Amino acid sequence: MPSVNLSTPIEYLKGVGQQKAEILKKELGIFTFSDLLHYYPFRYIDRTRFYKIREIHADLPAVQILGRVVSKEVIGDKRAKRLVAQLRDETGQIELVWFQSLRWVEKTLQVGAVYTVFGKPSEFGSKYSISHPELEAYNQNAAKTGNLSLQPVYNSTEKLKQSFLDSKGIQRLMAVLLEQIRKDIPETIPPYLLAKHRLIDRASSLCQIHFPASTEMLEAAKRRLKFEELFFIQLKLLRNKLVRTARFRGLVFGQVGQKFNEFYTTKLPFDLTNAQKRVLREIRQDTQKGVQMNRLLQGDVGSGKTVVALMTMLLAVDNGCQACLMAPTEILAKQHFASLRAMAGDGFVNISLLCGSTPRKERKILHEGLRTGVIDILVGTHALIEDEVQFKNLGLAVIDEQHRFGVEQRARLWRKNEVPPHVLVMTATPIPRTLAMTLYGDLDVSVIDELPQGRKPIKTLHLFESQRLRMFGFIRQEIAKGRQVYVVYPLIQESEKMDLLYLEAGIEAMSREFPLPDYRISIVHGKLKAADKDFEMQRFVKGETQIMVATTVIEVGVNVPNASVMVIENAERFGLSQLHQLRGRVGRGAEQSYCILMSGNKLSREGKIRLETMVRTNDGFEISETDLQLRGPGNIEGTQQSGVLDLKLADLSVDQHLLKEARAEVIDLFEKDPDLSSEDNRLLREYFMSRSGGIRWDKIS
Ligand code: ADP
Ligand code: MG
Repeated sequence: MPSVNLSTPIEYLKGVGQQKAEILKKELGIFTFSDLLHYYPFRYIDRTRFYKIREIHADLPAVQILGRVVSKEVIGDKRAKRLVAQLRDETGQIELVWFQSLRWVEKTLQVGAVYTVFGKPSEFGSKYSISHPELEAYNQNAAKTGNLSLQPVYNSTEKLKQSFLDSKGIQRLMAVLLEQIRKDIPETIPPYLLAKHRLIDRASSLCQIHFPASTEMLEAAKRRLKFEELFFIQLKLLRNKLVRTARFRGLVFGQVGQKFNEFYTTKLPFDLTNAQKRVLREIRQDTQKGVQMNRLLQGDVGSGKTVVALMTMLLAVDNGCQACLMAPTEILAKQHFASLRAMAGDGFVNISLLCGSTPRKERKILHEGLRTGVIDILVGTHALIEDEVQFKNLGLAVIDEQHRFGVEQRARLWRKNEVPPHVLVMTATPIPRTLAMTLYGDLDVSVIDELPQGRKPIKTLHLFESQRLRMFGFIRQEIAKGRQVYVVYPLIQESEKMDLLYLEAGIEAMSREFPLPDYRISIVHGKLKAADKDFEMQRFVKGETQIMVATTVIEVGVNVPNASVMVIENAERFGLSQLHQLRGRVGRGAEQSYCILMSGNKLSREGKIRLETMVRTNDGFEISETDLQLRGPGNIEGTQQSGVLDLKLADLSVDQHLLKEARAEVIDLFEKDPDLSSEDNRLLREYFMSRSGGIRWDKIS
């Protein structure tokens, strides 16, 4: 027999053959022995316990019962012929029913004998029955020697089932496979780490995940395999970081100079929060080391990231460099530009704006200013990564709203200078810690987890359609106090037509309820031309209108401190992070702000949880955790290329401890043995060598 290994094509497995192989490939993407080995059960049937008949109800999954068959009879006419047996234990009686193979069952089933019965109970009239149960004559000794206690259940498909590859069929293949290759399953984690983290070896864990000897062994197997998944993602991420920092020298911002100090002492109109100070210290340390900074700055809306960005840019200027700030939309870029200018004041540093809409002539002047170094700080959209934009000495790139820019775009920024500029990525979308460790595992993370003093927490309430008049009344009150109000409608691609109808109806209702000349309304939605949108927006910003009816275009970046009410229509249709972002548009001034979530009466379970969460808390991190629990990492923006979706067993919403343990281990590991050259770490080194291209060891210092 030819020797087999994990990469042997699946058709060579005994019991597979050409035809089944084709189906396994097509239906499950199983091409090799290894693929099959990693096709894990999605659940297990617990055969370790026997149910009493009295405990049976229709909601149970398949259960195991021990009982005596007290009768059997074939009933019904030709078309609906069936065999019904009564099974009894000391607590009650249940029916066993067969529609097929009646002759055989009738012959073998012994009235008066005790059987182990296994199957899914269903309710039939007032009685319970199990159709086509698995039966086994009860044998005290056999039970003690322990048959399979937890039976694996595999996902199968119609096509697979037609080829006898239902869950049972796959289980049979798995048994054959493990028999053959068990001894050839290589270990991937060094023994000293297995011992340290109390992990069982790889071969055992793969055997146990398919055929657990006990619940405890199953848990141990899962833990080991989850750890492995998380560990290798971290190993890759942190390895990349190590290579990058070794490869890219960083500019040294050796001094805190005149601009930074002058801004801090004479221009800053408030005290920095402790969190802001801490982040600035972290940035200072990063930029002194001679290594390129790649730092993610997470902070809820309103936590004051902009001022941190500005002070970091001043630090660059003080050290003879230019800085840029890149925003995902033109509106946001303009807003940043305006607020940076307002903070810095005239003649302090030269701040310019570059957007897609910047006229050619102006652009030329800008380009010139950037090349000669007249411009200190450039604010803009994607336009500023275009090749014709060249800096004299770009020392820092700040990117706002990370998830809208890809890694590739970040890399283009790096190439804007001979020594790559430091990169500070800001995001107002709080990401659960576990996800951040995986998504941005190669970045350093700073968190502003404190709002500026005196900020009043936004009050959130949830109203149903029937309470609409209350909402109108409240808006009137706030406007009478001089405040402004947002009313936001969902505009979601798939059902755009319906959404537009809602929006139009909403605008009409608002215009009726809040008529001219007492009230003026701005209307902003994605269908407007950019110039019109801008005009409407500006009217609101300047306070010429009191109400802004809008779709989610305002989600990012509008800053009107006088706006104190955010009404969200059809709030149940928004995702949690979107609701949180929208709410963040208010609460920016000194006044008490409110968020009113309007919804229909019928809410899905998830919709209800979302709205309850919003009412309960203002904490973006708590909200993002709930979002992760509700939707899983696959639906959270930015996860697509991160590897978290390749996780087969580990679940970032549950396995936080294991992730932290794995990451801490990897950090420790690279500190002690950065190029994994010790004999102890041979397996890890081989892991990298086996990947295409391997690792550029020569680049590591
Ligand atoms: P973010 O970008 O994090 O959402 P901003 O930087 O726009 O937040 O800040 C929100 C508002 O809070 C701005 O008006 C800003 O001037 C103000 N602000 C920032 N830091 C402080 C602080 N330490 N004390 C008081 N107000 C602050
Ligand atoms: Mg901001």
